[in-house]
Amino acid sequence: MPITTVPLQPTDLSVLAPIIGEERTSRLLSTASDVSSALSGKSVINVNSTAKGGGVAEMLHWLLRYIRGTGVDVNWYVISGSPEFFPLTKRIHNMLHGDAGDGIPLTDADSEVFRKVSLENAEELRAVVKPGDIVVLHDPQTAGLAPEMKQAGADVIWRCHVGTEQDSELRTAAWNFLSPYLNDVDRFIFTRPSLVPDWVDRERLSIIAPSIDPFSTKNRPMSSEQARSILEHTGIVQGNSTTEPPEFTRADGSIGRVNRMADIVRTGPAPHPDTRYAVQVSRWDRLKDMQGVMEAFAEYVDGMRETRLVLAGPVVTGVADDPEGGEVLTECIEAWRELPHFERHRIQLVCLPMIDIHENAAIVNALQTNATAVVQKSIQEGFGLTVTEAMWKGRPVVASAVGGIQDQIVHGESGLLVDDPQDGEEFGKALQSVLDDDALAGRLGDNARRQINEHFLGDRHLLQYAELIQQLT
Ligand code: UDP
Repeated sequence: MPITTVPLQPTDLSVLAPIIGEERTSRLLSTASDVSSALSGKSVINVNSTAKGGGVAEMLHWLLRYIRGTGVDVNWYVISGSPEFFPLTKRIHNMLHGDAGDGIPLTDADSEVFRKVSLENAEELRAVVKPGDIVVLHDPQTAGLAPEMKQAGADVIWRCHVGTEQDSELRTAAWNFLSPYLNDVDRFIFTRPSLVPDWVDRERLSIIAPSIDPFSTKNRPMSSEQARSILEHTGIVQGNSTTEPPEFTRADGSIGRVNRMADIVRTGPAPHPDTRYAVQVSRWDRLKDMQGVMEAFAEYVDGMRETRLVLAGPVVTGVADDPEGGEVLTECIEAWRELPHFERHRIQLVCLPMIDIHENAAIVNALQTNATAVVQKSIQEGFGLTVTEAMWKGRPVVASAVGGIQDQIVHGESGLLVDDPQDGEEFGKALQSVLDDDALAGRLGDNARRQINEHFLGDRHLLQYAELIQQLT
């Protein structure tokens, strides 16, 4: 069973200086140099289950590049699984969020599948893990590797990016399935305290919230004109898709082109490029509630100024560890067909190409940059990077008050929070209030950008990692 490695070009931390300022940069550089000396001769090995699609992959791409830029030998491996493995881990993921997923309970046969795939991947990893190395395992898919990595002599960190605050039988069953593999890890990392289950030893716990890179393809500044030409080319708004493919700038400063178009479900032609729109960018996952956004928008958002809704996610074959995507997209399309013609006309469902992650990121950047408002009506959310991305772009965000979204948005100051994620009316009215009031939208967006600069950029994240590694070494 092959594990694959993801190439990482080193990035120098000092590039952050123009954004985070001299003081933050010099603290970062001096801590990085201490950590790099403390780690000399040791590797830091990150393991997860996909190189593209979803927040973890999104973050590892840039975070690990900065770490490599400090001279630390950091690496990234992606596990593979048998055909039963990812449906099983998706079920565990859903259960950790209190959702029954495909509704099948976890059985001994599932334990066997999980153990077998974990052992096969661990055997491959043993070739690169040496005693004293630090292995960072991300999310439930990799939890089964922990005992093997401990046996190989590594210090093992298990980082959990998912979960819900609410206790339930499903959540307990999922933790009972996973926790035996995690008894001996050296450190747990969770995104926020309320997501930590009772069985986790608090002495071995660190809380580290995710962050974004202001220079990544997805988050670097994009002019409204550039965003518009990308949206035109991909077919999301009206334009001339036969002209030259639009360019964008990648994280490393090189120039790329958006060649591919999006797969789009809508009625009639694309909207005019000046048409205002709200967007939710998410994987096609029930917990993101794309269908709920659509139904709330159709029922509760109208107003004098025409606004459209764009629901954008990856093409459903694009995310290896997310086997439910096709099903959820189909459900959304069916629900869209049920809407009255006028409402259907205001809403488009968009699948973005995933072959080139930078091309995909450029399209997401364009969608967020030119949006009148960005929404994230998740039922559960570990953190919600799409919220961070939109806030960084100074967009007004309307989102459910769940998980880490609550740590990012201060309600009424840097966005609007909707208390009950299932309440379409409350959500629709909150969105309407932002769409109707440009001054409110502008104030929320400005504060949002400041909030992300202060708390959710890479320096804070890297310093927390540094502290953890210093404790371990
Ligand atoms: N994303 C993307 N293309 C898509 C859909 C999502 O690049 O078509 C990205 C999105 O911009 C964000 C990440 O996937 O960076 C999703 O992270 P989040 O924390 O919001 O949710 P997760 O998918 O990890 O549950």
